[in-house]
Amino acid sequence: MIQLYVPLNFLGVIYREIKQSLADIERLFKLLDQHREVADVPNAKPLAIQGAELRFSHVDFSYEAKRQILFDVDFTIPAGTTTAVVGHSGSGKSTLSRLLFRFYDINAGSISIDGQDLRNITQVSLRKAIGIVPQDTVLFNDTIEYNIAYGKPDASREEIVAAAKAAYIHDFIESLPDGYQSMVGERGLKLSGGEKQRVAIARTLLKNPAILIFDEATSALDSRAEQAIQAQLKEIAKDRTTLVIAHRLSTIADAAQILVLDHGRIVERGTHAQLLAQNGAYAQMWDRQQARQEIGPSSPGTNDRD
Ligand code: ATP
Repeated sequence: MIQLYVPLNFLGVIYREIKQSLADIERLFKLLDQHREVADVPNAKPLAIQGAELRFSHVDFSYEAKRQILFDVDFTIPAGTTTAVVGHSGSGKSTLSRLLFRFYDINAGSISIDGQDLRNITQVSLRKAIGIVPQDTVLFNDTIEYNIAYGKPDASREEIVAAAKAAYIHDFIESLPDGYQSMVGERGLKLSGGEKQRVAIARTLLKNPAILIFDEATSALDSRAEQAIQAQLKEIAKDRTTLVIAHRLSTIADAAQILVLDHGRIVERGTHAQLLAQNGAYAQMWDRQQARQEIGPSSPGTNDRD
């Protein structure tokens, strides 16, 4: 009996391992499946950018049939200007950026860039035109040089260094023993939140997109790092059509347009001053955030997520 037990037990271990791998493969297919319905139309054209005016026209959207996420969302970002979106957690802010990349198709309405409906242009040309500085930058297990050049795979060494300098991360890279060849990511050097965002900024500068999405981190960096990054972003956003998904209202007070999203609907829009004067949802959010900041920057929840 004992002679049989050992091999059977061993087979059990292998079976569990295989089952686990299959589960992973299944997950991978599920992920791939998510975007399967989004395909280029047969005669899709490459996006022709003029000024990159962005338009959401009466957009309805749901990820799943039974739960609508966006309702009649309608706004324009004039070419070269910045629009910020604010709203409680789950109101649909990040969904706007996913739709702009056309990771999903919408149920009603249209999204267009310079008058070209996203459904009629090639996805490759669309994604080339948009740069994103995400909340939490994922770094590849590769060199820091590779991670920056990811924005433009054929970039020269000079271009990469120039982008790193403009993102104020060059000196940090040079101080590492292996410089630009330092390995980063899960298996390499762990970078801080601010350093990772600088890599993302360098990547975006190199890509030089006409449209920029900045998904502000919910957890604030320390305030000096935060201010430096904000200043850089302002620099990058200059003359680009920019969508900021904002959590701290203080960072977007000078946006040309602010949209307030509530449960998937735009409930207010205007400049910071106009919205304060309206004394509505935005003004309330602003007062709450100001009150929290007076208590102290380390107090929990200094954003609008609750
Ligand atoms: P936060 O400020 O927390 O980042 P948000 O305003 O960006 O929130 P979204 O990420 O746009 O919110 O999500 C809007 C709604 O859509 C949420 O209720 C969320 O649960 C739902 N949602 C997001 N992604 C998916 C998905 N892939 N499938 C189904 N529902 C989703």
